[in-house]
Amino acid sequence: MTKRKSLVERIILSSAILLGGFFFQVRNHARIEEVYGNKVIITDFFPGYSFTPGPFIVMGKNKDFGLNDEVDDLYKHESGHVEQFKKLGIFYYPIVAFPSIFNCYFLEDRKFYTEMWANELAEEKYGPFADKKQYPIAKK
Ligand SMILES: [Zn+2]
Repeated sequence: MTKRKSLVERIILSSAILLGGFFFQVRNHARIEEVYGNKVIITDFFPGYSFTPGPFIVMGKNKDFGLNDEVDDLYKHESGHVEQFKKLGIFYYPIVAFPSIFNCYFLEDRKFYTEMWANELAEEKYGPFADKKQYPIAKK
């Protein structure tokens, strides 16, 4: 009779399988590009949404994804969030990231300080937006 696997062995084994599956999914559903000098993870997950979890951008592509003014503005806006991260470091999370998520889901204030500041920084560094009204909120 074979020895039964211990609980720890099972947890390690199932975690390895889950993690392997996760990386397989990411590799097949994401690519990395560089836009405005920032790394952008373009993924099938979160279609139509984009966010900046720190020094890089995550862009959920949707069916009309392509290089146009709208997408360019969105990259620009998210690059503004990268600039905020560079200025604030770890304080980016309490000052910008979490309030911004809260705003996106609950307040839906299109002139929220995190978003207006991101636009300002982006314009300073990358020039004017094609249509600024479009992206005070990183939401399609
Ligand atoms: Zn934003």
